[in-house]
Amino acid sequence: MTNRHFPLFLAKPMDPHRTMQGEDSQQWAVYAAEQSIKPGRQFGDTGEVQQFIDDILASRAWQERFPRMKKVEVSGRKGVDDHPLVGRRTYSYGGPRGRMPYAEGMISLHENMGFETVVLHELAHCVSPQFVGDPSGVKKGALGFNSPQHGHGPYFRASFSWLCEHFGSDGTHSELWDAYRHYQVPAAPVDELWKALEQSAHWEGVLQAMHDEEEPSLPKQPEADGQRDAPGAAALGAPGLESMWWGSFLWEARVLAHRTTKTEVARRVSLVTRCKTADVTRIENYRQPPEDPAERLLAFQMGVVLGADPRWMLTAQHLFRMELGARMKDLEKLNRHWVAHVRWMNRALRQRPPYWRVSGHR
Ligand SMILES: [Zn+2]
Repeated sequence: MTNRHFPLFLAKPMDPHRTMQGEDSQQWAVYAAEQSIKPGRQFGDTGEVQQFIDDILASRAWQERFPRMKKVEVSGRKGVDDHPLVGRRTYSYGGPRGRMPYAEGMISLHENMGFETVVLHELAHCVSPQFVGDPSGVKKGALGFNSPQHGHGPYFRASFSWLCEHFGSDGTHSELWDAYRHYQVPAAPVDELWKALEQSAHWEGVLQAMHDEEEPSLPKQPEADGQRDAPGAAALGAPGLESMWWGSFLWEARVLAHRTTKTEVARRVSLVTRCKTADVTRIENYRQPPEDPAERLLAFQMGVVLGADPRWMLTAQHLFRMELGARMKDLEKLNRHWVAHVRWMNRALRQRPPYWRVSGHR
């Protein structure tokens, strides 16, 4: 696979000028790989996690490789979260924050995820290159949708595996490599990671200067109904969830990844379920998950047509095939690559099952 531009959706690669990576198509495989390794050290509370992170940041290995990142703050959350996008699920997140080039990061850790693998995963989000490829196509005033990527691409995996090598429990690094190989989601070679970090820092500086010069156009929320032209799902900082609306994953997939029309999506979905252009508009514009099962099924089928990651649809969008009664043979008519991916993943999971489970994303 290419290390430069990540395929966002299964059916078609992302436009190379877009640096944003939203719902990455490899989330399922990446999660499955790390869940097949031991969870590592368990932390008692947020203070212990903060100490673990502080020790990492004070180490020589860290200072040689990530000298810019000076501080990562950990916060904890308890119980079940209720978020319009993430909903009532357990989730954690991590990422850089503040001015670019980033010198600070933050990790929000759910109490069910207070163990080494998840902590290092979130730390990898803080330090992995935020801008990859060539964002020279970014226009002034349009930073809203060329925002940092929060995905789990090859550079993220390289960062995570470097962290496991230096700060993880014995054996996690090699186990992780085996797991990535098994799930066919290799990490970028480490020397490419260092190059990508340099390049990202350069672009972060450029983009910060553009921000300082001109107010960026902030992400626009969609109208409750009707057309909308402005892209804008992604936030300008971590974790990026607050400024998204529920249907944005479909809008992004259709417009940014596939550059296709609502009419075309409606035509494809209609191979299985009656769907008109107005239905596509309505579903893309939902701010929160619709409750009507028919609407949910339609959203799910749109996701399949657009090749959205099955795991992402479950953890972030709450769309689950079984629950919706979507039959594989129908879905095959919509996107046979998607179905092949699901079958392949299920086989891979049987061969290398999870060691631990958490319900939400991270
Ligand atoms: Zn993650």
